[in-house]
Amino acid sequence: MPRPLTTHTHTHNTQTQKGERVVGILGTGDFSRSLARRLVASGYIVLVGSRTPKRFVSLFPEEVTSQIDAASQADIVFIAVCPEHHSTLSDLKQALAGKTLVDVSNGLRISQYGPSNAELLADRFPESWVVKGFNTISAWSLQMGPRDGSKQVGDNSKAKISVMELCRRMGFIPVDMGLLSSSLEIENLPLYLFPSWRVPVLGTLALFIFFYLYNFIQDILQPYVTAGKNFFYKMPIETVNVTLPSVALVLLSLVYLPGLCAAFLQLWLGTKYKRFPDWLDQWLTMRKQLGLCSFLCSVLHAIYSLCLPMRKSARYELLNNILLSVNDGVEISWDDEKVWRMELYLSVGIMALGLLSLLAITSLPSVANTVNWREFSFVQSTLGYCALAMATIHTLLFGWNRAFIPAQYRFFLPPTFLLVLILPFLVLLGRLALLVPCVAQRLRQIRRGWEKSHHIRFTLVKPLQAIKN
Ligand code: NAP
Repeated sequence: MPRPLTTHTHTHNTQTQKGERVVGILGTGDFSRSLARRLVASGYIVLVGSRTPKRFVSLFPEEVTSQIDAASQADIVFIAVCPEHHSTLSDLKQALAGKTLVDVSNGLRISQYGPSNAELLADRFPESWVVKGFNTISAWSLQMGPRDGSKQVGDNSKAKISVMELCRRMGFIPVDMGLLSSSLEIENLPLYLFPSWRVPVLGTLALFIFFYLYNFIQDILQPYVTAGKNFFYKMPIETVNVTLPSVALVLLSLVYLPGLCAAFLQLWLGTKYKRFPDWLDQWLTMRKQLGLCSFLCSVLHAIYSLCLPMRKSARYELLNNILLSVNDGVEISWDDEKVWRMELYLSVGIMALGLLSLLAITSLPSVANTVNWREFSFVQSTLGYCALAMATIHTLLFGWNRAFIPAQYRFFLPPTFLLVLILPFLVLLGRLALLVPCVAQRLRQIRRGWEKSHHIRFTLVKPLQAIKN
């Protein structure tokens, strides 16, 4: 791509006598209007270039002029025109020569290969300096003015610095993302829809559907099919409420399982210098999102549980039980075992939720930035495993002796809590295995750079001994 060396020929008045800089904007759309307001508020003289200036004069508090006028008089020119119409600006090539053009455009869909809009614009205006930026800020943010990060790239550092200075004066925090060849990455940024959340959210939904159907079959369908009992009213609250903790516990185990896989893989390979397989790498990067999904399910479970006694069905059930007790002549209905089970079950559940809340808060960047690595890993690993252990005990207390009652195996399926407990048990056992002193010692050595293969090469002295003998 041909580039001028330094062709900043200021033939026009790009700075007023008071020292205010003139900034040009081509285009009079939403983005242009917000940008112009913000630039004026930051002390710049703004010239808006339009194909039909008279039509838009009333919409702008600043001067609206022809495209050629704005291009000629400003030193920095924002191209606030959709990229499909960049070609219509070709007549301005001469006027824009030697000037800094800020390409704010976004594409319609994510592009893998390029060229980017900014690169195409640079090709179209080879005698101007193209800087990509401001495309990650919406017209709305520009008006409201949060201290957002604006990312820019460009091949000319002088042009880039002047755009970054302008960005700073507008109250934003600029981030230099490198050369113009990185512009495709910035152009794609506003088009992503929570890419790091896709797999964890889909996984959470899949688990929810699976456990909901499993509970539906066991608690609603089976009594209906075998005894004609109608428990369909349980679908909106009770079935959801037993599904949510199942999903939460499995997700929490999935947060700690990849770390264990990584540790056992390192022990097996005897080195930390071999790359993990891609699936494990990706799984490790999803732990925060999986943990937050687990937290969401736990909070919902707590709210649903608090609402259980409010239901009409719960009140009818209570009344029916009282009437049955009166009919049977039972004076005191107090079962010590049931009371203790419930007290412990609730207490451990509350503790688990408290610890999960702590993990969720510490995962926020603003909090994570204030703790050191040791503190962070203490919360996320030690307290995280405590939360997993508490949640597992909570589930065990829920199950109590039901695993040994044949009637709980409806349609020959094990009760849900048994199914749910498999993964947390595996993770907790794996963690205990890593705490065995000789295993922990070896893992520590590996993580400090010790390698099995080097160790063997170093200690193998058999050939020398053979020569001596
Ligand atoms: P818009 O409302 O459609 O405005 C585009 C303007 O371009 C028009 O008002 C028009 O002004 C001018 N233009 C020049 N030549 C044109 C042609 N041949 N055909 C049609 N219009 C032409 O778009 P916008 O929302 O302001 O966005 C402008 C640029 O900013 C886009 O590249 C977009 O990707 C980027 N952007 C927008 C936002 C946002 O929140 N809106 C956020 C980030 C980036 P005249 O008729 O006066 O010439």
